[in-house]
Amino acid sequence: MEIVAGVHQLKIPFPEGMERFTNVYVIEGSKGNILVDCGWDSSEAVWAFREELRLERLSFDDINWIVVTHIHPDHFGLAAKLRELCGAKIVMHRIEASLIDSRYVDYRQLAEALENMLVSNGVPSEEAARMRDASARIARFVTPIHPDVLVEDGDTISNGTFQLEILHTPGHSPGHICLYDSRKRRLFCGDHVMFDAVPRIGVHPQSGSDPAGDYARSLEYVLEKPVSFVFPGHGPVFNSLTIRSEEILRRHAAMQRQIAEVLDDGLKTACDIAREIGWRPGEGDVSYDDLGFRERRAAVCEVIAWLRRLVEEGKVAALERNGTTTYLSK
Ligand SMILES: [Zn+2]
Ligand SMILES: [Zn+2]
Repeated sequence: MEIVAGVHQLKIPFPEGMERFTNVYVIEGSKGNILVDCGWDSSEAVWAFREELRLERLSFDDINWIVVTHIHPDHFGLAAKLRELCGAKIVMHRIEASLIDSRYVDYRQLAEALENMLVSNGVPSEEAARMRDASARIARFVTPIHPDVLVEDGDTISNGTFQLEILHTPGHSPGHICLYDSRKRRLFCGDHVMFDAVPRIGVHPQSGSDPAGDYARSLEYVLEKPVSFVFPGHGPVFNSLTIRSEEILRRHAAMQRQIAEVLDDGLKTACDIAREIGWRPGEGDVSYDDLGFRERRAAVCEVIAWLRRLVEEGKVAALERNGTTTYLSK
């Protein structure tokens, strides 16, 4: 669907019947088209790509650049195949590119580091192993490839019609980027800000030490820009960036408050806390024990991210004992 002049949204399905889509965008220009994000590598995704391009009267051949906002499988998985089909150059942030091999090519070390981190945060070792395996399984929907062009904050990609500035927006992922056209006031923002979902933030071996703090700073960064249309990686296109950002910050603050309250009862690990609070989807009404292993892993990683913020703010103290980290209110 051509949402605004020159910007086409294609909806690429998740694999295995998961009822979700990645929004990818084809941005038309006098000197070629730019594709923003790719979707998972699955036969359904390739089929959807072909079909949606055909309906939009677009073709693979006209795509000259494939910009990957971040290397999560739903944005990066199909990049290698699309590069071949389009003959295009893959563009991503330097930091994100540096994470590809350890995440998708040989992930044994990363998986081990993740498992150790989970155990040291109170996850029973058998459960931590299942969480590790659940994460590794999704790698089959990613064909890893290295980018042709590395970009940094402030760089520009132009296709003659759109001048897209790269905004480095770490938080959801450390090398996450948004694309911003200041003349047309368009923001392509991957998973940084979504209208109907709160972006996942979590501490894990590739996240950096304070992803929640990074995220809040990155949100402020995009809020400095005048924006008329926001094109997110999932869910509807919207124009109320400021209002939506405030809602997300309120949700994050509520999460932090909830964690601080749980800690009023005494010393706890991140896993103890994850068990005591409600989880998405369903806006916090799903209990930890009802989540799949991948979601449980994300829940524990998210609790650690908020705990790090609370420690940073001086509200909570972290204690290390016998290889386990516990937290208490100050
Ligand atoms: Zn993501
Ligand atoms: Zn995503």
